[in-house]
Amino acid sequence: MIDCHAHLSDISFSDDLPAVLDRAASAGVEQIICVAEDLNDCRHVLALAEQYHALRPCLGLHPDAADPDEAAAVEELIRKNAHRLIGIGEVGLDFWIAREEPEREIQRRVLSRFVRLSRELDLPLNVHSRSAGHYTLDLLLAAGAQRVLMHAFDGKVNHAWRGVAAGYLFSIPPSVIRSHQKQKLVRQLPLEALATETDSPVLGPEPGRRNEPAHIPLVVQTVADLKQVPPAQVREMMAANARRLFRLIPG
Ligand SMILES: [Zn+2]
Repeated sequence: MIDCHAHLSDISFSDDLPAVLDRAASAGVEQIICVAEDLNDCRHVLALAEQYHALRPCLGLHPDAADPDEAAAVEELIRKNAHRLIGIGEVGLDFWIAREEPEREIQRRVLSRFVRLSRELDLPLNVHSRSAGHYTLDLLLAAGAQRVLMHAFDGKVNHAWRGVAAGYLFSIPPSVIRSHQKQKLVRQLPLEALATETDSPVLGPEPGRRNEPAHIPLVVQTVADLKQVPPAQVREMMAANARRLFRLIPG
């Protein structure tokens, strides 16, 4: 199994990351895609990926931190390390944080920059969208983004379908056990468009408790229940979808 989106550079993992990774491996999670939120975090994620074999790095700039100068610095770091990366992220739009048009415009400009970079370097995008699902899809589709993971998509199913039609994947976090919106997404989108993620340390099965990659089997089981498909088939398919998008080599 694959965790397509986790923040293992988060301070909440600084004391026990080896134990967290052991639990993930015991649960059958072979690879963890570790995303970065800002320039410092990018350096941290690169260092962790050097140290721990199961981590696959994505570098990016979270929309909450969107700033044109920092975006330029992150782009430079991505270019320098492109051969070690499996994607660009976390990038996206967050209109829950950005309430006013000028801030939203900055987020759009920063995201557009990373879409261009993704196309140039042929790296997939690991995309955040909060209260901005259809705006994010509009931008990605208009900018010709081709390899895309929509993480923890909180928009409507009819918007998600436009992403599915473009071959985008939608990753489902453990909070699916308590989120009606995520359950609806799982029921209505095809298994071919779904992948597993945790967004550790948040979006866990229990609100307020630290989430970790070992919770991926819970996502598989919930998707299997919702879709009435055998868990083994769901596990295989969701891992295969992620491997294809991120061009991961098994093991
Ligand atoms: Zn995230």
